Amino acid sequence: MMMTRKYNLFTLATSLVFLCFSSCSRGTVPGRIDRLKAERDMAMSGGASAEGSRNKPVELGKKSKKSKSKSKHAKTARDKASSDRNTVAKLPQPVKADPYYVDTAFANQTYDKLSRDYADTIMAKPAQNIKDVNYTEAFVGTTNFNLRKPQYVIIHHTSQNSLKQTVRTFTMERTQVSAHYVISRDGKVQHMLNDYLRAWQAGKGKWNNIEDMNSCSIGIELDNNGIEPFTDKQIDALISVLQALKERFGIPQSNFIGHGDYAPVRKNDPNVHFPWAKLAARGFGYWYGDTTGVQVPKEFNEYLALRIIGYDVSDVSKAIIAFRRHFCGVESTAKVLSPEERKVLYKLYTKYL
Ligand SMILES: [Zn+2]
Repeated sequence: MMMTRKYNLFTLATSLVFLCFSSCSRGTVPGRIDRLKAERDMAMSGGASAEGSRNKPVELGKKSKKSKSKSKHAKTARDKASSDRNTVAKLPQPVKADPYYVDTAFANQTYDKLSRDYADTIMAKPAQNIKDVNYTEAFVGTTNFNLRKPQYVIIHHTSQNSLKQTVRTFTMERTQVSAHYVISRDGKVQHMLNDYLRAWQAGKGKWNNIEDMNSCSIGIELDNNGIEPFTDKQIDALISVLQALKERFGIPQSNFIGHGDYAPVRKNDPNVHFPWAKLAARGFGYWYGDTTGVQVPKEFNEYLALRIIGYDVSDVSKAIIAFRRHFCGVESTAKVLSPEERKVLYKLYTKYL
């Protein structure tokens, strides 16, 4: 017991030194970020060898005048090809900029700086500055608290062509979008943000009465072009991540939903191929089960049922489209549910009561 206490004191002291150090060194970070930005810009515009032609974009595949004039005097096609090859070999080769270049160093510097800023916010004592409130004399901190936990998981498809492209999107400040996890088609997981922090993934929408989903959810992006099926490896990796999140944060089964469920007016992800039934069988989201022999009461109100499940019904036709995509595996703009879809909705809503 004594040893543990000593160890804890030592750890605390080391942490304070570290915090002080990181806090003191913060002033130099913006300078480093500017330098890293400049390096990134150079890499994206074609590398250091483009020094002399920085304001002149490299034109790939353009023939030089020299090679043209030489080819005029070539007697045979073979001579011409050989001449062109030799000429091209002597010319400086343009450096092809990587369209999906990810500046990892710049991204991580920025991540570290922002994390330290938010750590300051967490460590600050309450400001006690609410207007017209009479505060007690001295601040007394409670001894009993911990971090808030995410209570929802929002699943997305990226509508992009590769994991790298999405990672690039999430490391460029101008895009203003992010997610906690990105999962590639071959099942690789890129974890991009501490689960306790707020990613910019769900945006404007409503589920139950939650309108700031970013504040209470984890966002998971699946690398997918928006219309294709998801790979088995990708879904297996997703299930592993969901299992860990569910156990770690105690996320209820009903709270694993799609971006299209939360924002039916703006979004349609994950697409209609997403295997929601498979996930529900593992405890992530609800499923309606078997509709054989189900008799839907005449007075059954679809509008209220969608609302009870969680959908925003202010534009009910959009809620119907999102429900159909998720639970019936059909992408359709039909504004009215078919009799079979009505059965699915009726069966499902009883699980949410
Ligand atoms: Zn999305």
